[in-house]
Amino acid sequence: MDAVTTTDALPPWLYAPWERLIRKGREGRLPTGLLVHGATGVGKALLTRALVQALLCQRATGTEAACGECNACRSLAGGVHPEVLTLEPEEAGKEILIAAAREAIEFLGLSGSGKLRSVLIRPADSLNTNAANAMLKTLEEPPPGAMLILEAAQPARLPATIRSRCQMVEIPTPDYTEATAWLRGFADDASSVEEAYAASLGRPLAAREILTDAERMGRWEQDREALTTLLRSPGVTEMAARMQRSLPESLIPRIQALLVAAQRLLVTGEPDAFGRQFPRDLLEAFARQTGPRRLAALSAEAAVWQRQATRQLNPQLRMEDIALGFLRK
Ligand SMILES: [Zn+2]
Repeated sequence: MDAVTTTDALPPWLYAPWERLIRKGREGRLPTGLLVHGATGVGKALLTRALVQALLCQRATGTEAACGECNACRSLAGGVHPEVLTLEPEEAGKEILIAAAREAIEFLGLSGSGKLRSVLIRPADSLNTNAANAMLKTLEEPPPGAMLILEAAQPARLPATIRSRCQMVEIPTPDYTEATAWLRGFADDASSVEEAYAASLGRPLAAREILTDAERMGRWEQDREALTTLLRSPGVTEMAARMQRSLPESLIPRIQALLVAAQRLLVTGEPDAFGRQFPRDLLEAFARQTGPRRLAALSAEAAVWQRQATRQLNPQLRMEDIALGFLRK
């Protein structure tokens, strides 16, 4: 676990769910299964971490966040708290397998020193069927003090049996104004904030990373150059070579956003926030030459590329395939 989260670090749209959860938690009214759901990058992990930390903290009371100083907080910050386990896929985008789920279940069954033992499952929609079934038994007959906190961007992908045994907590997605107001706390100028928010595809926590982490910013700049090359359409070889410098999992969703921006420009005459990150004349020329029908078809193709984003495909062939798609009018 990372350093202890205080409520100062929580974005404002998490306040209301935070207060509800921490009140129930202090009164011992939280259920064994909690399913925290909301869009990617909205702050689910921030909230669940703050909740577990505050409940384990030896000093915090009421709706206070963890103090950050007591023994429990120190061991959480050091990542060694004996009552908390995070269950994640071995690699991003992969499934959580039964073996890992069994370890987590065993962990919950060990008798701890305290009143609460929790497992954070992140993202819960990556549990494979066997792993989900194993978790189901724990939800039905939980060991004393056990708490399972599931985080999911797509809760519908979880088995209905799991969902029905969890209390659902929805995290609202902040609108542009609320998200950018919060992001202004991390960057001085409004144009950087707008760029990061657009680059993150409207995911405020990812936007904050772009603003504060040079590597993320570098990856966005890399992707923007690749997309600009797609708009210029200098030919398959150059387009594919440029795209190969990007990571498919970050580039492909941005290609989708570019296609939406081009479609929108044709309909409204104005680029959206993502489209504004590119030279207007280039985007407009691309949109007009490609036309609404072909743009719609490309968007459908991009959805297929997106599903394949985390697969190990030959990178050159993959990028050539995308470049060819853009060149077909
Ligand atoms: Zn504390």
